[in-house]
Parts: sequence; C-alpha cells; structure tokens
Amino acid sequence: MDFSWLPQPRFVPIPRAFHSLEKDGPFERCVQCDAELLTSGRPYLIERVFRGTEPIIEYALCESCVEKAQQELSQESKEAVAKYLAEHVDFAARLERLNEVAGVEDEDLDAESWFDHCAVSGQSAAHTRERQIAAWCQGSQMRIDHALPLMLAGPALEELQEVLSEKTRGWMNDFVSDNFGMPPEFCDQPDIRPILL
Ligand SMILES: [Zn+2]
Repeated sequence: MDFSWLPQPRFVPIPRAFHSLEKDGPFERCVQCDAELLTSGRPYLIERVFRGTEPIIEYALCESCVEKAQQELSQESKEAVAKYLAEHVDFAARLERLNEVAGVEDEDLDAESWFDHCAVSGQSAAHTRERQIAAWCQGSQMRIDHALPLMLAGPALEELQEVLSEKTRGWMNDFVSDNFGMPPEFCDQPDIRPILL
C-alpha cells in the first residue's frame, strides 16, 4: 500500500507516562529477548496498563518481538481488531491534527494530548478505572503518527477482548503469565490484559 501521502510522524522525548515504574525512568530492554533499546536504534513498542493511577502491567517489546508476537495472533483476530479500530477510532482526525502540527515546534506539540483521552470513547484518563496506553519509541524519542500513541479505556478494552479469537486470547494469557507472572488482578479481571496493537 502507498502511505507516502501520510503526514510525517513526529518524534518527541518520551513522556513520563511511558517511563517504567520499575526502572523509575525509560525502559531499557525488551521484555522478551532482552535486547538493548535506548542506544541500539531499534524501534520498540511500550504498553502500560493502569488501574487508577497505578500501573499494573508495563513492558517494552522490540520491533522483531512485536512482529513475532503478531504472527502468533490468528488472522481472524488481526482482522477483527483492525475492523474494530477502523470503526471506532477517528484516524482521519488524528491525520488532520498531524498535518496541523507539521510546522509546530516539538515543545509545543503537547505529547500528552495524544493519549490522555480514550481513542474510542473520548473518556478522559482522569475518569477511567482501567486504561491502557501504547506508543512506538526509538531511542529516547516517542513517535507520534496517525495510529499511536493512544489510550484505550476499560470499556473499549473489553470490547476488543470480545472480538479476539479463543486462540489469540489464550496466547495473550500465556504472554502475560510468561513475562510477568500472573498478577492477581488478571484472575478476577481477565478483560484488562494488554492488547498487542
Ligand atoms: Zn525483543
């Protein structure tokens, strides 16, 4: 597909919301393969799941581990997630906004405003019980493009879980338990596992 018409992505210093609680600073390594992230130049995905203000799951995954993970997802699930997002997220508005800020200085980009509302419901972060944020980063920079960073609040995450196939849900459960141990939150609240976007 030809994406040359898309506005250029922007890069800004990684906001604190995408720092690791455990590291008390930026993520340094891929949770799966332990690849170094900050100086290697390889792109990586950060996902953090919050309950209230507390992060309950957080990780960074390097690009090749994201690709491997996506291969594990069933075709059916990938299509269902893409369809759900296409129907519920206003990507056109994000594209328009990217165009609008093309000439704006980095410090005036207001990076947080790209992920402080649920991309599906518009619910603000302050009013959510559970939410997930995701962003692509490279080195010390976060990439802003038509898709990421974004936030999904609890109800949207639940809807997304429902469109996933049984196989994909099983794989995600394994991913969470392999990498993090199974936090008790997931036993009574299985709908808040991370979604690999
Ligand atoms: Zn990796």
